[in-house]
Amino acid sequence: MPSLDAEVIVVGGGPVGLTLAAALGAQGIATLVLEGLPELPEDLRGSTFHPATLDMLEPLGVVEPMLARGVRVPNYQVRDRRSREIIADFDFSLLRDDTRHPYRLQCEQHKLSALLLERIARTASAEVRFANRYLSHTHHDDTIQVTVRTPQGECSLSAMWLVGADGIGSAVRRTAEIAFEGFTYPEKFLSVSTPYDFRSAIPNLALVTYLADPEEWCLLLRAPELWRVMFPIPPDEPDSTTLSDAAVERRLQGLHPRPQPYEVAHRTLYPVQQRVAASFRSGRVCLAGDAAHANNPLGGMGLNSGIHDAFALSDALARVLHDGAAPSLLDDYSRHRRRIALDHINAQAARNKRLLEERDPAARARVRAELTATAADPRKARDYLLRASLIASLREQH
Ligand SMILES: Cc1cc2nc3c(=O)[nH]c(=O)nc-3n(C[C@H](O)[C@H](O)[C@H](O)COP(=O)(O)OP(=O)(O)OC[C@H]3O[C@@H](n4cnc5c(N)ncnc54)[C@H](O)[C@@H]3O)c2cc1C
Repeated sequence: MPSLDAEVIVVGGGPVGLTLAAALGAQGIATLVLEGLPELPEDLRGSTFHPATLDMLEPLGVVEPMLARGVRVPNYQVRDRRSREIIADFDFSLLRDDTRHPYRLQCEQHKLSALLLERIARTASAEVRFANRYLSHTHHDDTIQVTVRTPQGECSLSAMWLVGADGIGSAVRRTAEIAFEGFTYPEKFLSVSTPYDFRSAIPNLALVTYLADPEEWCLLLRAPELWRVMFPIPPDEPDSTTLSDAAVERRLQGLHPRPQPYEVAHRTLYPVQQRVAASFRSGRVCLAGDAAHANNPLGGMGLNSGIHDAFALSDALARVLHDGAAPSLLDDYSRHRRRIALDHINAQAARNKRLLEERDPAARARVRAELTATAADPRKARDYLLRASLIASLREQH
């Protein structure tokens, strides 16, 4: 066999690629991460960490500093946007026997990435190369050859396995000719952040609150320093209008009118897709995270399930590389995580969206009454939280 540059090459230094590299490195597997950007981005994207994800990340030593840098959310609410009436209030302490972290943690994903990068820097067998853009790959008998653009020019690297953790537009997935099946929602999502404290306006507001409304639902989410507010944007509204100061102010005033204008720290408008790759494995290539599945952000499940992929894949790769397990173990990874993406993640995210936007009055009354009854019954509420927190998906057998 020719000499290898790594046992595993991971394309993408996002939270999923870095989790995978840290978990592989911890098992002594020679891992090389190729990240196209010159450094870690600090943009405001996912910020929700569910209990099961924190349990998994704990052995990597990143959870304690995340807790110090984030906000613990003990409960979350679903309310009617207009009346502010609480439809359901879910208390995470119902999960105290199911997890070591019975709360949601709000902490920007770039903070996790920075902690993982530090962890990898202390790991002899793992390395991250920035400004290294994956271009293509070719299979050889026992290895895979990867072409990379670096600041010094193009080069070729070889490994046993290649993982595409390169996000929703994954070039690895395209080169491997794996279909990304699903759809793009007609509406875009606008995320706005402001230092205004909505708790002073809405009594007993939970730090994560979904406001249901048939015209314009909204999500209120406390990030450590700011409140984030998410709105759906009609498909015919030009992006420049949505992002203008006047339109952002009008939306925030529509949510909570106040005499002063809102201070806006960030605004991001992005399209939302609901897609799952036809397979998470093709030959010596595997996919994880957004490269493998995408869903709407209601419920904060995309980033979390991507991290769960990373741990499942690191276990499977370690067993194949070091314990002599058959490579078909990676087909099991693909089947299992793909089914979770379809049956748990996308199904739950779609249900969350329908609940918030339901226009038919009879259907709206029915789903809201069901949710109220679920939250009021501790046994049903625990089952609901096990699903919403992705613990149920992890307990599902292969
Ligand atoms: C604007 C925005 C807002 C979001 N808000 C939320 C939210 O509120 N809640 C939520 O749960 N989720 C949210 N998400 C989704 C969440 O950010 C993703 O689920 C998460 O980032 C997935 O992590 P990942 O590591 O799989 O992919 P990414 O974070 O996309 O990382 C992929 C990495 O691969 C790199 N890369 C890409 N191509 C190449 C290449 N050819 N060579 C080398 N490197 C490459 C990229 O530079 C990037 O660093 C949001 C996403 C966006 C875009």
